[in-house]
Amino acid sequence: MTGGQSHGHRTHGASRTTALFGGTFDPIHCGHIAVSQAAQRRFHLDALYFIPSSRPPHKSKQSLAAFPHRYAMVALACADHPAYIPSLAEAPDGAAPHVFYSIDTVRRFRKEHPDDHLYFILGADQFLEIPTWHNYEQLLDSCDFIIAHRPGFRLDALRLVIPPDKLARTPSSSHDPNTIALRKTKVHLLSTVTSHVSSTEIRQRREKHQSIRGLVPARVEEYILGQALYR
Ligand code: ATP
Repeated sequence: MTGGQSHGHRTHGASRTTALFGGTFDPIHCGHIAVSQAAQRRFHLDALYFIPSSRPPHKSKQSLAAFPHRYAMVALACADHPAYIPSLAEAPDGAAPHVFYSIDTVRRFRKEHPDDHLYFILGADQFLEIPTWHNYEQLLDSCDFIIAHRPGFRLDALRLVIPPDKLARTPSSSHDPNTIALRKTKVHLLSTVTSHVSSTEIRQRREKHQSIRGLVPARVEEYILGQALYR
């Protein structure tokens, strides 16, 4: 497969509940971890793949810390959590700049783990942008979604970005106010966690020589200080 390692140990038969959490992770922070823990609790995830993107289509103008640094920090953050797996699925492939699309990443995981129940995790801010994503209608059909609440976003606004013909005709029988039933998939709103931390804040604090203690996992803080990142 392109772009990195095979995903996980069990390649045949055993079905798992798996989530993909993509992002620039520049750097990974405690907000990402809080979302992951809440998602793991609520959806009983067996595996949660953190997928740092080498070049996200929507952040092409921003200058990013080098991929190996962002991947290293993700790996350090995963070290304390047995179900968390750092993924090279969107790692740069040689010298040629390559844009990765989420639909392709999800399809690859599907192919490799056809029996897994697959979720895609993203923040509410990102979900509102989803109509601008490559093949987003196919993406909405391809797996279930876990949408993390972010300050300032109204959860009911999320429904508006879903094309009406994708919505299930009859509402979900569970009457779960935090679930939007689509014809093929579901969008779950994870309202149990709200974190104000962002990577932007971490980078800004570093530029201003302010402490980032408690905003990133301790090992990640050590790495950022040791490598003098974001100065
Ligand atoms: P930046 O500040 O550089 O834009 P970010 O903090 O949003 O970065 P990303 O790596 O872009 O971090 O985020 C990956 C995913 O995690 C996105 O879907 C984003 O919406 C979500 N996310 C980031 N921070 C939080 C948070 N505090 N709470 C919930 N979701 C978050």
